[in-house]
Amino acid sequence: VTVAGLEDLYREIILDHYRNPRNRGDLPCPPARRVEGFNPLCGDEVVVYLALGPGGAVDDIRIGGQGCSISQSSASMMSAAVKGRSEAEARRLVRAFKAMMSIGDESGDNDSGVAVDDGEVRLGDLEALRGVVKFPVRIKCATLPWNALVQALDGEEGG
Ligand code: ZN
Repeated sequence: VTVAGLEDLYREIILDHYRNPRNRGDLPCPPARRVEGFNPLCGDEVVVYLALGPGGAVDDIRIGGQGCSISQSSASMMSAAVKGRSEAEARRLVRAFKAMMSIGDESGDNDSGVAVDDGEVRLGDLEALRGVVKFPVRIKCATLPWNALVQALDGEEGG
């Protein structure tokens, strides 16, 4: 498989999630939490509805909003990746995804080696968004739904 072929595959995965978004819709709030994310640079809007089960597990998640293919496909992939996970697993996915987007080191650690996979986290389709790193302007599109998810996990009602 050539590099060009891989990029075509990734493009297909992104477009598939954009055209057929997973977990699209909403959930009654309360009990679900609702957090809105907005990326003014691109005009992306992502609304995350999060229903938590015992111990903070992600019982159910729904995605609303509108925006570019990167933001909306990232939200779709995220919803599929975290649904049914424990809170700890969901947060590990967030960390792994942000590491892939190269913004996991805001604490000042500037080691060049970025661990995408800590051994337990499998990003799956999310790997398709890896190419976004080459376009810094679009990184905010890709991370928008993840930041909204973290707010929802933290219990910060957005708006
Ligand atoms: Zn965007």
